[in-house]
Amino acid sequence: MTDTAYPALFSPLDLGFCTLPNRVLMGSMHTGLEDHAGDYDKLAAFFAERARGEVGLMVTGGISPSIAGWLKPFGGRMSMPWHVARHRKVTRAVHHEHGRICMQILHAGRYGYHPLSVAPSRIKAPISPFTPRALSTRGVERTIANFVSSARLAREAGYDGVEVMGSEGYLINQFLAERTNRRTDAWGGSYARRMRIAVEIVERIREAVGPDFILIYRLSMLDLVEGGQDWDQIVQLAKAVEAAGATLINTGIGWHETRVPTIVTSVPRGAFRWVTARMKREVGIPLITTNRINMPDVAERILADGDADMVSMARPLLADPDWVTKARAGRSAAINTCIACNQACLDHVFANRRATCLVNPRACHETELRIEPVIMAKRFAVVGAGPAGMACATTLAERGHSVTLFDRAQSIGGQFNMARQIPGKEEFDETLRYFQHRLKALDVRQRLGHEATVEDLRKFDAVVVATGVTPRRTSIPGDDDPRVLSYVDVLRDHAPVGQRVAIIGAGGIGFDVAEFLVQPKPAPGTDIDRWNAEWGVDENMAHAGGLKPRQTEPAARQVWLLQRSEGRPGKRLNKTTGWVHRATLKSKGVQMLGDVSYERIDAQGLHLRIGEQSRVLEVDNVVICAGQEPNRSLADALASAGVSTHVIGGADVAAELDAKRAIDQGTRLAARL
Ligand code: FAD
Ligand code: NAP
Ligand code: SF4
Repeated sequence: MTDTAYPALFSPLDLGFCTLPNRVLMGSMHTGLEDHAGDYDKLAAFFAERARGEVGLMVTGGISPSIAGWLKPFGGRMSMPWHVARHRKVTRAVHHEHGRICMQILHAGRYGYHPLSVAPSRIKAPISPFTPRALSTRGVERTIANFVSSARLAREAGYDGVEVMGSEGYLINQFLAERTNRRTDAWGGSYARRMRIAVEIVERIREAVGPDFILIYRLSMLDLVEGGQDWDQIVQLAKAVEAAGATLINTGIGWHETRVPTIVTSVPRGAFRWVTARMKREVGIPLITTNRINMPDVAERILADGDADMVSMARPLLADPDWVTKARAGRSAAINTCIACNQACLDHVFANRRATCLVNPRACHETELRIEPVIMAKRFAVVGAGPAGMACATTLAERGHSVTLFDRAQSIGGQFNMARQIPGKEEFDETLRYFQHRLKALDVRQRLGHEATVEDLRKFDAVVVATGVTPRRTSIPGDDDPRVLSYVDVLRDHAPVGQRVAIIGAGGIGFDVAEFLVQPKPAPGTDIDRWNAEWGVDENMAHAGGLKPRQTEPAARQVWLLQRSEGRPGKRLNKTTGWVHRATLKSKGVQMLGDVSYERIDAQGLHLRIGEQSRVLEVDNVVICAGQEPNRSLADALASAGVSTHVIGGADVAAELDAKRAIDQGTRLAARL
């Protein structure tokens, strides 16, 4: 019986007036679709697909209860009767699939990216250019009424409940913490007064919606900022929220302005389960835990250990809408795992683009990117089993084509085989496992360890070339010295590297190689206690905010990370993860230098100039990470031989290539061939 693989995960949860079929909550995630009335059909399709995938309970992205509460101008709002109709599309679609969905009410407070934002006090957030207006006492009353009216409208729209967003540093959280609440009226001062807004919102929503409506309160259990709440205060609030009528309490970890990573891939799986476990001793209603839970075994362990009653996952259900169905059937090897890269979800949202997923380009594009069966099957050859080739081959096979996948390497994965070596990128292994499983399940013939030739490919109806890239060479005098290595020598071929190393090129790969060279082995991210020490997370909650002084482990090597462009390296790294890479390398003493001219490499080391100043870095090795060029030799040979081809991934365009583009391009091409 397959259910027995994860008995805790698949035990129903009785909420008194309704029973959830399993312990999976799809946590709130902003997709961008909720901000435009015209996109609600797409939003409905997005949630319906996850409801069909048997998610126990879902929560929408944050919907504001007022204009002042907007996250950004004209963001999703539920405050007027005419807002109800668009939300009905979502609830009907979900209920049609026998799912359940709550609407999250989110008032951004000082995180609002617009000039109308309000907050408990007039204190600008470090992550917004706008200074908020301090709410008047009547303004606070009005804000509570806005929350209640929004919940009432949500019920009218057919939602099964609401989630009150009380964490991540948004408005309610701003009232709770001394850091942001300097009020002297009835909503500031003592903790009892600061927490009053949260309790009144819950109490008055419960009164307005009646007893048979799910009311989740998202409680900031760990602020991770100076001037945050202490543990006794958080417990006091949890008890009051329970008494005020909450059905469930969800865990919130960190404010958006915190300098501790909370969800990126280098955060260990289940890193914050201990916080929810601690709260389990204090309240009686079911608790939901969250952050970096992406596979069924992690979820099962947490639930079976009694650390929480439900697990919240948001990004993992973007990555695979059928996560729950696959887990229930004991087919976890078939799960398309979220690798916590943020590249297509959060990075998109921060850039005002629709969210999607690096490993699943269909996410939030369910109505537009359809994988349909073919009428006339063809014989395809796909050359190159990197992300582009793997995505293309599996999608072609899923549609019913006959596919042969070639790679000259002995295993699939292309550059992901190097990416997975980087400390904190271990999750990339899961993508390789997923594709391996999918290639087999779809009967894709694999010819590995074979460099495909024109003759091999003539017999196919069509050829897709996904041969990737070749590392760019530099023209620095002396770069043929044996002590000069490429990132491929280091990561793929495991060339020995000395204690003092200069890295030429500070793009994504330069940063990754630096991390590979400085992190001790195994890296702190493989162990929650070591990781907490490294980032200063205080499991004993001895100080307000849950922070303690960082205890960074010494670097394994001395590294210089260099670029020719002006400014400090790392500015072009991804928005939501770049700061973590920069902070990590800084804590390991990596010297990051810009405006560098390379003069030569000789027995003494790397000779360079910074501005007018000449310097020699006396290093044991120089590692070149100077970008890449497309590997088009096969595509060119096929074109000369008159074989028609489609070229994708790095073989198509190497500049600014990443796995997001490679997988997207491979999937989209296969969907239309
Ligand atoms: P590749 O992955 O380069 O695959 C091409 C494949 O073609 C190879 O397996 C090669 O062996 C094969 N091949 C070539 N010629 C032939 C032939 N004639 N016959 C048969 N086989 C052939 N991207 C991200 O989005 N996020 C990250 O965090 C990230 N981290 C990275 C970290 C590192 C250390 C590295 C090296 C890369 C990282 N990338 C990351 C980049 C990402 O891996 C690439 O963008 C992606 O792999 C490109 O996919 P592709 O399929 O075009 O090419
Ligand atoms: P990249 O981002 O283009 O960086 C190349 C670096 O080499 C730059 O710092 C460039 O800076 C330098 N350079 C370029 N030509 C040079 C030359 N002739 N001599 C000396 N230096 C030179 O490329 P990458 O680091 O190889 O990464 C490849 C792709 O993989 C990226 O586009 C990225 O999206 C993806 N990737 C992503 C991640 C991630 O975490 N998201 C991680 C790794 C890789 P100067 O010109 O200023 O010297
Ligand atoms: Fe997860 Fe990356 Fe997909 Fe976001 S883009 S859901 S982090 S795999």
